[in-house]
Amino acid sequence: MKRLLTLSSLLFVMTMIMSCGSEQKALTENPLLDEWTTEFGVPPFDQIRTEHYEPAFEAAMLEHNAEIDAIVNSEEEPTFESVIVALDNAGIKLSEICLIFGMISSSDLDAEMQEVQQRMMPLIEEHFNTIMLNDALFAKVKAVYDKRATLGLDDVQMRLVEKTYNDFVRSGALLEGADKERLMQINAELADLSIRFGNNLLAENGSFCLELTDSQVADLPSGVRTQAQEAAASMGKTGYVFTLDKPSMLPFLTYSTDRDLRRELYDGYLMRCNNDNEYDNKQLAEDMARLRVEKAHLLGYDSYSHYVIADQMAGTPEAVYALLDEIFEPALESAKRELEEMQRLFEKDHPGETFEKSDWWFYAEKVRKQKYQLDEEAVRQYLSLDNVRDGMFYLANRLYGITFRPITAPRYHKECTVYQVLDHDQSHIGVLYIDPYPRKSKSGGAWCGNFTEQRYVDGKRKAPVVGIVCNFTPPVGDTPSLLSFDEAETMFHEFGHALHFLFADVRYRGLTEVEGDFVELPSQIMENWAFEPEIMQKYATHHSTGEVIPDNLIRKIQNAALFNQGFTTTELAAAALIDMDIHSLTSYTDMNIVDFETYNLATRRGLIPEIAPRYRYTYFAHIFNGGYSSGYYFYLWAEVLDKDAFAAFKESRDICDRELATSFRYNLLSQGGQRPGMEMYRTFRGADPDKSAMLKARGLWSEPEEQIEEAVVEEFVAPTRFQPGTRPVHDISRTAKTVRPQADVE
Ligand SMILES: [Zn+2]
Repeated sequence: MKRLLTLSSLLFVMTMIMSCGSEQKALTENPLLDEWTTEFGVPPFDQIRTEHYEPAFEAAMLEHNAEIDAIVNSEEEPTFESVIVALDNAGIKLSEICLIFGMISSSDLDAEMQEVQQRMMPLIEEHFNTIMLNDALFAKVKAVYDKRATLGLDDVQMRLVEKTYNDFVRSGALLEGADKERLMQINAELADLSIRFGNNLLAENGSFCLELTDSQVADLPSGVRTQAQEAAASMGKTGYVFTLDKPSMLPFLTYSTDRDLRRELYDGYLMRCNNDNEYDNKQLAEDMARLRVEKAHLLGYDSYSHYVIADQMAGTPEAVYALLDEIFEPALESAKRELEEMQRLFEKDHPGETFEKSDWWFYAEKVRKQKYQLDEEAVRQYLSLDNVRDGMFYLANRLYGITFRPITAPRYHKECTVYQVLDHDQSHIGVLYIDPYPRKSKSGGAWCGNFTEQRYVDGKRKAPVVGIVCNFTPPVGDTPSLLSFDEAETMFHEFGHALHFLFADVRYRGLTEVEGDFVELPSQIMENWAFEPEIMQKYATHHSTGEVIPDNLIRKIQNAALFNQGFTTTELAAAALIDMDIHSLTSYTDMNIVDFETYNLATRRGLIPEIAPRYRYTYFAHIFNGGYSSGYYFYLWAEVLDKDAFAAFKESRDICDRELATSFRYNLLSQGGQRPGMEMYRTFRGADPDKSAMLKARGLWSEPEEQIEEAVVEEFVAPTRFQPGTRPVHDISRTAKTVRPQADVE
């Protein structure tokens, strides 16, 4: 999941603020505005050109405004149909164009597209803000909301009324006079600070690099050297360059034997925007924290976390802290044990010296090789992209009976492959695009999104068009694309998002979204199957010999599953905790945000100096320049759900149990946000989610070996209770659902 809010992803967000509209449109020469005649309703990518976007946006905004005016000016008594449904149907064209533009600008951005982005984004943002602050429109919505109990609405309709009303209220519609003015001021200031925060980070990120010579990289694997050489060449330099981007930095920290260079690089990373220069982010982050407290108070909440989380499954910051605290302590203990193991090796190499943060990756790798004898390169030979794709299609077929048929359809790039998705009865579910390889015009990471969303037209389900976009290892010469573990897992992850979109069967557009802390359940659960022996034996065959992956290799993979989990979990939970700490302030007094971080992590929670949180405030773009403020915990929350849900399959003794899968599909995946996430989950599982499966998967479960059997039984008697979520209506960035960057993931 998960990445920073870019211009294009903001467009996604914009489309979610309000929903959408009318079917009639003027005849034009613009394929974005014309009625599409393509098979399965695929966007006519072969006809869409960059110059079509701007006029299409403008026409679609005008159309949306006309639809809003019609609702506002209607003399009719406000009803569910004339206000709520009409609003839900307003702006469909605009929404459609935003989706396509968002997807294309993330995966195929050229200078021209970038210009359109820069021109149009502020206009579109203003367009939606104006609608959310339209008092006359809100009065109509409120009139329906106030009498909702008397309207004979069913549960889904009731939820749509409440969600629509809450979206307005959360945007400040109930405020008046000076308060409303102040909220608008705060929003504008926050938007400005956020952009400046992001720009500083970009500048600071780009201003540091390690330029090395042949002899300084001699100890690195050849792939890492080649990558560094290419990085140097792309900057017009000779030799080798390592940057602060994780795909560049982490291999260096893992393999370089030069301690000083490792320290130099990692220190550069940790100190970003904390160098007291023009790009320093301390003051900006402090200002944002202060403004967010004020915003929360204006809207009637104790803290910004209360405001954000009221709309999530977790419901309250207390429930989030309960989960994070439960994870953090055992994770830290486990990390300390990992450190002890590494320290023995470290002392041999550097007697009398102190182990530092920047030594962790290098010694962890040494332990991994010694203890688990797992060679990732050997596994890669069995993970060709085609194999992994066939493996996930096979899994989806086992679980849901669906099939994937390659088709010829308009494409936005020649590297895309396109599939029609057919249900078990051969009926059409949707279309899936897969765009696997990196290119200059593509953002980093991996994500999944809709080109067109599922919706209902005249009572009939209109199937969605979905895209998976990745940056996987490309084929070289005769060798096909061979994926790493992480890449194979990412493929299954994104495929999980795709299934969530493809199975969607939601009556109203305003109810397609799920809570932010639910978003990663459909994706993360798929990762559980990726390396199950039963599934691997079906897809992991050697790319040149066709030999099925040997059992001993699968065993090694499984044995190494808990490797370094203490560290990974600690740095992840630490980042989630500092996000909560800064946003749970109920009043703001002047502070130094770096001291605040140190106090909360090291002094109060005992984080050891050998581990830094995955993000520190001055470069925590997820929370200061993205959609994740008070939301970095989402991944861990969803992980409790995905591990517990997968445990249901394990308990059934058939990891592809069709009955369970059917329940998962119809009770969760196809529902969108028509019901609260926790309610959907309980319907599937028959109980509240139990944290123990997740703690076990991260090696944090403390039952002694011989008592495990007993403990498993006990889980069912006394499941760990979650705080039930309050009504989930949310304004979390769609990026959460659609975007999962490789390096910045989680
Ligand atoms: Zn994801």
